[in-house]
Amino acid sequence: MSDCAFDLAHYAELLEAAHTGGYRYARFDHEPQSGDLFLRHDVDLSLSAALRLARLEREHDATATYFLMTESVFYNLASFEGRDAIDELRGLGHAVALHAVHPNFFRDDRFDPVVAWHNPDPDYVFEPVEGVVNVMQAPWFTNGQYRSDSNQHWREGCPHEQLRTAAFDWLQLLVHPEIWVYPGGTMGQTMRTMLDTKRDEWLEHLANDRIELA
Ligand SMILES: [Zn+2]
Ligand SMILES: [Zn+2]
Repeated sequence: MSDCAFDLAHYAELLEAAHTGGYRYARFDHEPQSGDLFLRHDVDLSLSAALRLARLEREHDATATYFLMTESVFYNLASFEGRDAIDELRGLGHAVALHAVHPNFFRDDRFDPVVAWHNPDPDYVFEPVEGVVNVMQAPWFTNGQYRSDSNQHWREGCPHEQLRTAAFDWLQLLVHPEIWVYPGGTMGQTMRTMLDTKRDEWLEHLANDRIELA
């Protein structure tokens, strides 16, 4: 397989590897069982990136849980763009849950009863949360059954080969859409590509808001 680049081509290879390994996409509505793949997306920076990944997953018969923020400085879930994003994610067959900033947790009917804390501290990350599943509480978080791509770095290696050979009994796989969707050889370049894209999107929003841009 490829050099494990953080791009959409290798993301598609990861999905194919999971397919070859016989994994079943699972939601956080039951405790992990053999063969489950809990595909989790924390959407920190861009709804456009989340939708791009969601459409790609649909093409590969993959479903994920998208954790969206109500307190992001990078996007507004209460805007028409945010409402449309939730509708499209649900329409594509994905689950939508809350990516909350501790200790604020105000769930409403936009979200399934699951929470993932944003940038959590060690003193509460694994603690159960009343009335919902915390994705990092046991047994959903179990050492050896978890991989994360944070900042374009797999602490324990890219999981494509182990997915392909069904080496995990089950797995929670955390993927941040922005770092795969936008091209760039480093995290810094990828973020700058994202900002260039956002600039174009914002110019369009300005025009739609009847701002004179001439
Ligand atoms: Zn890989
Ligand atoms: Zn986050």
